[in-house]
Amino acid sequence: MAASEFEIIRRYFTPAAPGRDDVITGVGDDAAVLAVPPDHHLVVCMDTLVAGVHFPKETAPAAIGHKALAVNLSDLAAMGAEPAWATLSLTVPETDERWLDQFSRGFLELAECYHVQLVGGDIARGPLSITVQAHGVVPTGTARYRRGARPGDLVCVTGTLGDAGLALKSELPGDSPLRRRLDYPSPRIEAGMALRDYASAMIDVSDGLLADLGHMLEADGLGASIQVDELPRSVDFVAVLGVSGQDDTALACDLPLGAGDDYELCCCIPKRHWPEVQASLASIPCEVTRIGVITETPGIGCYRKDGSPYTPAITGYLHFTGGD
Ligand code: ADP
Ligand code: MG
Repeated sequence: MAASEFEIIRRYFTPAAPGRDDVITGVGDDAAVLAVPPDHHLVVCMDTLVAGVHFPKETAPAAIGHKALAVNLSDLAAMGAEPAWATLSLTVPETDERWLDQFSRGFLELAECYHVQLVGGDIARGPLSITVQAHGVVPTGTARYRRGARPGDLVCVTGTLGDAGLALKSELPGDSPLRRRLDYPSPRIEAGMALRDYASAMIDVSDGLLADLGHMLEADGLGASIQVDELPRSVDFVAVLGVSGQDDTALACDLPLGAGDDYELCCCIPKRHWPEVQASLASIPCEVTRIGVITETPGIGCYRKDGSPYTPAITGYLHFTGGD
């Protein structure tokens, strides 16, 4: 490599500003030393993005940096955790200073937004691949899990669904709002921390609502009935579908049900908590929508307003459509 590994770390991955008080030692020693606050649990997750698999090779480097951290922060959000620290393992085919500069900006700008400090990592040469580990904390006993839902709980989602999926499908330009949703996802950190007080179970929507809700239901052997007309769709989503003149019924339902990459939260809320959830998320502010209810019968059933069953044209999930 042209610049040495140490030079790259110093130039691009050593935060300029003084960091968090709970970082005893960060980048530069053999390992980071971090202070977990008393009466808290440490929450840790890791995700890898591989070029050509998780993002097209020509993706803007800032978007790759942003997304590599965002997908991990979204996992922390789903546990109800407050993010604190991150480590980054970067494998690059060559030393491209322009690429490194933009990648690190994308990463560090998002980190700063959520007061996350990069405290260590690794650099290797090879096919482009990025692994991030994120660390957060929750007050002891308050983390939320995929398991824990009860029949009768409301199924709720934050924000809007299907935006990233429509951006991918429609090949929208980089500056369009839906495309930004795909390239620069916003992890629902504040919403996750608010929902942990009320949710019986929680997961983030990375693979698509049916897939991720399915994981949550499998954890308890339960099912859900989903009202497809209640699925929250953004103004941009509706506008782009309208302009494309495509069969809106199928796409307007199937993208929010099946497409991934939105990084919203899906949670189960005992009915008595619904007013508090609405008030709490309104103060963030973050939209939250009830889209269905947990059932004892396993499987996910989808329904229209008039009560007729709706079968999504998403082959991967057809085995889920028989429930009630
Ligand atoms: P060692 O050889 O002891 O494992 P390295 O030379 O790999 O140490 O790393 C030196 C320091 O730089 C360590 O503190 C490590 O965590 C940090 N570091 C290495 N790569 C990165 C990176 N991509 N981002 C942030 N910190 C990094
Ligand atoms: Mg060492």
